[in-house]
Order: sequence, then C-alpha cells, then structure tokens
Amino acid sequence: MIKIPEKEGRLSAAKAAHIEAVIAFVKRKTEGYRRDLFANISRVMTVSGTFEDMSARDDWSWLSDFILADVKTLKQMIGRPELLQFDEFKRMYSDYFSAGSDKYVDASTKYNAYMFIENLGVTICPYCDEEYLDVVENGNGGKLRTLEIDHFFPKGKYPALAMCFYNLVPSGQNCNGMKREELLGMNPYEDGIEGCTWLYPDLPVGVNMEKVPAADCTIHFHPKAGMEKNVKALHLEERYERHKATAHKYLLLRQQYDDAKVEEMVKMGMFPTKDFAYRVLYGEPLDEEAEEGILRKLRRDIAGRG
Ligand SMILES: [Zn+2]
Repeated sequence: MIKIPEKEGRLSAAKAAHIEAVIAFVKRKTEGYRRDLFANISRVMTVSGTFEDMSARDDWSWLSDFILADVKTLKQMIGRPELLQFDEFKRMYSDYFSAGSDKYVDASTKYNAYMFIENLGVTICPYCDEEYLDVVENGNGGKLRTLEIDHFFPKGKYPALAMCFYNLVPSGQNCNGMKREELLGMNPYEDGIEGCTWLYPDLPVGVNMEKVPAADCTIHFHPKAGMEKNVKALHLEERYERHKATAHKYLLLRQQYDDAKVEEMVKMGMFPTKDFAYRVLYGEPLDEEAEEGILRKLRRDIAGRG
C-alpha cells in the first residue's frame, strides 16, 4: 500500500475542483432537492443553522464539510449506517461522475471521474503498488481508462458517501475486483500508511544469497494498525509471488555490492558517482525528477533504497 501523494499542491486543487462541481450540481436542482439533501446531511454532520440560514450564505459549508470530510470523520460516520442511506450522491456518481468521458457533474468545467484522476495525477494503484493506471484517448474525442474508482467505504452499504472525496480511491482493476464490498482497515489518503506494512523476504538472517534461488524469495507483508485487512482482502502476498525474482535481485545486489564495493567501482571509473552506481544497479530513474514506477515500496523495504 502506498500513500496517494500530495504532489505540488495537486491534492488541494483536486479537492477544490471536486467540491466546486458538486456545489454547481446541487445548485442546479430545485429547492426541494436541496432542502431534502440539507436535512439528510444535517442528520449526519453537526450543522448549526436551519436550511433558510444556510441557503442565505454563499459558502455552502453544509455541503462542502460533508463532501470533503476527512478519513477519520468518514470512519466515524459509518458507525451510523442508517443515516447514510440517502442516494442523491450515489446517483450523481453513477449518472454523471463515472458514466463516461462525455458525461459531467458540471458541464461548464467538464468535471467527471476523468478530470478527478487527471487532477490527482495518480498513475500507480495505491492499494498494491503493482498496477499502472492508464487513461487514453479513444480517437473520437472521448477517453478510455484501465482504472476504477474504488469506494473505500462501499457505496452499496453507504450510498450517501458515494461522492465524498476521500472515499474515492483511484485503483487498478485487480484490486477493485478483489476488494468488492469489503471494508479495508486503512485508506491510501491517510498519513503514515506506508509505515504500516513492511515487506520482507522469508529467509534466515545472514543467509548467503548466492545459494538462494529466486523461487525461495517469498515476500511477506508485515502489517500493523489495521493493515491486516488490506493485505488479506487484496491478496497481496499471493500476488507478490510473481515478484520473487525482483526481491531476489535486490537481495543479491545488496550482498554483492556493499558501500565499499560501490566506492571501489567509482574509483575504477566504472560509474561517475556512487549515487549513479546505485541507481543503475537498482534500476531506479537516473533523472531524480523522473516519475517512479511500480514496486517502489518493495525496493525500499527489501533493497533499502528509495
Ligand atoms: Zn492494485
């Protein structure tokens, strides 16, 4: 599991675009619709004021506090599932947000799931760190995508949370397909999430890697703080069976090219710097600014790199 990064303020911009579109959608609806929605939300959130007070104000805080509620608040909300059964947001999600590249929550800004993904700039599945997430043009002015938007708190059980920003997790088809309606322990927007699993090889300490075949380099996930559910529901250990060879490579490299050895190679002129040597050896981008690929956490935990 990797955290959805806050790249150059992108997350804040993505949140701003999301709430702006949701407000625009609700504004277009009748007063009756807005009144019902307000009543439903005020049962879930503490809203100080009546519908009349709130609609006289222009900040739409009653709506934005709900749609942008943080993960901790969402976790509290699901303790009262009976209050989360109104379906305006589930319909907004299915009929406009996620209905295709030519359907919009707000037509004036062309806001839908594609723009949400583009705004976030997430290109690797945060649940597994092994699937790329692609959006491509289909040639007819539309778009196609290989990724899904997972509802961390399933929209079947909690329809009211279907458009809540922190409930929308861009994820790969493998993960979304396996998770289904399962409730995971940790959400990829949460701080500190990367420290909550540790990937390690199932090998004795100090073993001579030259004698260990790749087939023996089983990768284990050591989960804590609610991450057990994620590892289990997403079948991460089974899926990482296919990355044994990568783990094997890192372990062998780590043993054979220690710091002294790398320094020697630089002195011999094989590499211009130690940093360059490590990047080449571990297959990292040579350009520090370049985007990282998949399996970064595996490399960080097992190779001690990155
Ligand atoms: Zn995934």
